[in-house]
Amino acid sequence: MIEFDDPGNFSNLKEAQIRSLWDRGVKGWRFDPPFKLAGHENQLKAALGGHNARASFFRKGQVYAGVVLNCQCKTCLGTQVNFVLDKKINIIAQQVGGLSLTRLTENKVTLERRNESAFEEHVLQEKADKEQRQRRQTRMRELIKMSEEQQARLMNGQPIAD
Ligand SMILES: [Zn+2]
Repeated sequence: MIEFDDPGNFSNLKEAQIRSLWDRGVKGWRFDPPFKLAGHENQLKAALGGHNARASFFRKGQVYAGVVLNCQCKTCLGTQVNFVLDKKINIIAQQVGGLSLTRLTENKVTLERRNESAFEEHVLQEKADKEQRQRRQTRMRELIKMSEEQQARLMNGQPIAD
């Protein structure tokens, strides 16, 4: 059983702070694609599993962009899988330990557990990109230096006639 519901977890965090954590990819889940809700929000909560009655959503205007789920136990996951298949909306985990549900085909969904938050992943990716850029720059400098040395040797071997 995967239980995210921790009463002490959010009660002392202001809504704006939670929103900021979600925006930065530290907390919660992302809906992919975001969607406009047709019915009542309680129906959406029910569609995410019986233990998610206190789930909090993140909206951009009328558009539902994300959620903090309380539970991804077997039962709730089953409901979430149906949601993903029926609505064609993926539920992408941002927080550590969360499960991402991604629709592959008409009746197939993959589950993937997050080992680091989306925020951490982004930071690590940036670091890797930077290191690759630096390696490329170093290699470029080496090539330029080699080329200059070759030119210098050629110049020395073939002195310009006066
Ligand atoms: Zn549950």
